[in-house]
Amino acid sequence: MDGFRNITSGTCPENRFRAQLGTTDHHPLALHLLQLETGRFCRSSKVLLRPRTSQEVAHILRYCHERNLAVSPQGGNTGMVGGSTPVFDEIIVSTALMNQIVSFHNVSGVLVCQAGCVLEELSRYVEERGFVMPLDLGAKGSCHIGGNVATNAGGLRFLRYGSLRGTVLGLEVVLADGTILNCLTSLRKDNTGYDLKQLFIGSEGTLGVITAVSILCPPKPSAVNVAFLGCPGFAEVLQTFCTCRGMLGEILSAFEFMDAECMKLVGRHLRLACPVQESPFYVLIETSGSRAGHDAEKLSGFLEQVLGSGLVTDGTLAADQRRAKMLWALRERITEALSRDGYVYKYDLSLPLDRLYDLVSDLRARLGLHAKHVVGYGHLGDGNLHLNVTAEAFSPSLLGTLEPYVYEWVTRQRGSVSAEHGLGFKKKDVLGYSKPPEALQLMQQLKALLDPKGILNPYKTLPTRT
Ligand SMILES: Cc1cc2nc3c(=O)[nH]c(=O)nc-3n(C[C@H](O)[C@H](O)[C@H](O)COP(=O)(O)OP(=O)(O)OC[C@H]3O[C@@H](n4cnc5c(N)ncnc54)[C@H](O)[C@@H]3O)c2cc1C
Repeated sequence: MDGFRNITSGTCPENRFRAQLGTTDHHPLALHLLQLETGRFCRSSKVLLRPRTSQEVAHILRYCHERNLAVSPQGGNTGMVGGSTPVFDEIIVSTALMNQIVSFHNVSGVLVCQAGCVLEELSRYVEERGFVMPLDLGAKGSCHIGGNVATNAGGLRFLRYGSLRGTVLGLEVVLADGTILNCLTSLRKDNTGYDLKQLFIGSEGTLGVITAVSILCPPKPSAVNVAFLGCPGFAEVLQTFCTCRGMLGEILSAFEFMDAECMKLVGRHLRLACPVQESPFYVLIETSGSRAGHDAEKLSGFLEQVLGSGLVTDGTLAADQRRAKMLWALRERITEALSRDGYVYKYDLSLPLDRLYDLVSDLRARLGLHAKHVVGYGHLGDGNLHLNVTAEAFSPSLLGTLEPYVYEWVTRQRGSVSAEHGLGFKKKDVLGYSKPPEALQLMQQLKALLDPKGILNPYKTLPTRT
């Protein structure tokens, strides 16, 4: 912390940013090209601070606030929209050293920990005590719980345990001026005034730095089954989902889907073999319950039904944990396979289930040979499509064919242009597709109230032009 005193104050970084662009506004393409100059996202900060305590975070923010120094909060840096990386010269405040578990209550399942705890380590900790974390995602080995809360991450257990907006019980947050806001309650019920923690869940580091989290962990299911199925069409995927919900009910914990293009890419780039007959679509189903025999009986009844009715053409059940992990890897490693295929245009969308895949087919026809691959996969059970387009390299003309077309398509279906990844730097200017002007205005007012000098994650989440 000593070196911290030597950081030069000076002009607000935002002013320098504007000077560099030669404009008082940010042209989306200029910013996009800027991203490409230095890699996936711009990283030009000269200062990385790694506080260990909330008091140290408060000290840093107080210092930065007094001197108009912009700050970029950073967790595991696994975010998909460039929220945690500096755009210009923001000071990075990393939670990497804030990795202490404060308490765990083995009756209520309430875990209280610092924001920098890695999700996978928390999972291991609570699983040893007979509980699970209410969220799980492909980036679990690196992402921090503070980053998860700041992005309101969805992930693979959303279908079963719901949003972090329900499972996070309390937060400790350091505000832009260094004030420590201690709302770290462990109560399930607390209707005293406004629920302030909700403001910070999903605020992507623009309203405060989350320093500690209190979260409700459900009991660990003693029987987990994973099935991987091939479906002949998307209509059959939807029918399989309906049948699954009806027949598996409370034990259904995940319903994920991927198309044949995804399978081709995980095969080509990661050498993962398809475990079932080649099909246009694949579905991964997970059940989590407390009685193995009861769950197996339900699952085999369901499989008999979907295979017999032609909804599913082929399927496999994981006989042990190793095999279950292999099946999950096919779904969880799609992001990795895509990044090895070339430049990736990524869209994380919420859509009505019956139109969910139409956008993928539509874009495939629209882009033709201009794209290498147009793929669709995601958390079908949550109505969440990950639409990805790969190309040899970034091309402004391909971007122009994709945007605003994709956003307008989603808006016509009353969907969301960011289902779970947030807006960060990459998507901030598309917020207006999913929220009315009145909501945008209120968001700007809240930002001005909590961070009047705009030092927390400038250029992120809220649009440049409203
Ligand atoms: C392979 C892979 C799979 C993924 N799967 C999913 C998925 O299924 N579902 C999903 O929702 N996301 C997914 N993601 C995206 C990403 O992992 C999540 O957004 C995750 O929650 C980010 O956590 P992080 O600690 O890495 O945060 P970072 O990337 O470091 O930061 C993300 C944002 O939160 C802010 N932030 C971070 N820490 C704090 C803090 N303590 N206080 C205030 N603001 C903070 C940052 O400024 C930034 O705006 C995936 C990513 C990868 C690479």
